[in-house]
Amino acid sequence: RYILGIESSCDETAASIVKNGCEIVSNVVASQIESHKRFGGVVPEIASRHHVEQVTLVIEEALAQANMKPEDLDAVAVTEGPGLVGALLIGINAAKAFAFANGLPLIGVHHIAGHIYANALMQPMEFPLLALVVSGGHTELVFMKEHGSFELIGETRDDAAGEAYDKVARVLNIQYPGGPHIDRMAHESDEAVKFPRVWLEEDSYDFSFSGLKSAVINYKHNAEQRGIEVNPLHVAKGFQDSVVEVLTAKTLRAARQFNVKQVIAAGGVSANKGLRKSLDETFANEGIPFYVPPLKLCTDNAAMIAAAGTFMFEAGKRSDMGMNGRPGMELVSWHK
Ligand code: ATP
Ligand code: MG
Ligand code: FE
Repeated sequence: RYILGIESSCDETAASIVKNGCEIVSNVVASQIESHKRFGGVVPEIASRHHVEQVTLVIEEALAQANMKPEDLDAVAVTEGPGLVGALLIGINAAKAFAFANGLPLIGVHHIAGHIYANALMQPMEFPLLALVVSGGHTELVFMKEHGSFELIGETRDDAAGEAYDKVARVLNIQYPGGPHIDRMAHESDEAVKFPRVWLEEDSYDFSFSGLKSAVINYKHNAEQRGIEVNPLHVAKGFQDSVVEVLTAKTLRAARQFNVKQVIAAGGVSANKGLRKSLDETFANEGIPFYVPPLKLCTDNAAMIAAAGTFMFEAGKRSDMGMNGRPGMELVSWHK
């Protein structure tokens, strides 16, 4: 099976062809980060305009790199939500047009199911499975008893992990997106400011990062008031240590309670070196296989959408031409 995936939920316009849900044949990502940098974040109108300019090009490029024609494909999968509605619609309309013109089935994919299924491109998923989803808009622990079955066991009550990274970066006057910069700075530092760990209730798998973000802001403010110099490297390491410790501890506790066979990480923040190392070591000690995709498949891409779309296709899921962008779409199970 060859599935074309299309992704346009945020600031990446992407198309990819995946074979049998596990093998990348081509993977094209056009990033808009440069255009949003000077605004310190993603500007929806600019994002939509870029998607319009790029979407046909990335689809053609995905076909060209794969050396394939539309008639070699079995279906088209596209991100249906969540995301910026104007951005989603560009990918969805391109997918509909492509599917209609070539007589192919259309499949609407949840963006976070996509992030999770990026892992299927690296090794087979083994169930029961626990996924730590950490991205720009989501921080969740998802339990999967089989393919297409998603049970949310914990989520952030305020900021997502990536959002916290980007906001803290802003406080430190670091360019958007701040995550990779803070990660690098944390690694360059041998000292860390001590920031709080937010555990919430003892048995909760939920997260909260807004208090940590405020602690960073207060620390900087107080230091400046007293004329003490703030070392951004120490702040970056202190912040990252707190985020990584809480994410790791809650993932480990959930993995034990749910007795999972595999733990995976997904989403942009799973590109974080500190987090990858911590999860790697923790689950090596615990004796539970842990996987995280290569960096290119952690952040937004269309291969992950094609991968999830393939499993949905095999489960008989189809969308019709009435598909609309769903900015607040929830992750619901598709297994029968
Ligand atoms: P969502 O997937 O929730 O809809 P999104 O698609 O915008 O949101 P992703 O593209 O998955 O999010 O991830 C982008 C986020 O990942 C940004 O917040 C970015 O700062 C963060 N990020 C990327 N690399 C790193 C890193 N090395 N360390 C920490 N954060 C990172
Ligand atoms: Mg992005
Ligand atoms: Fe994403």
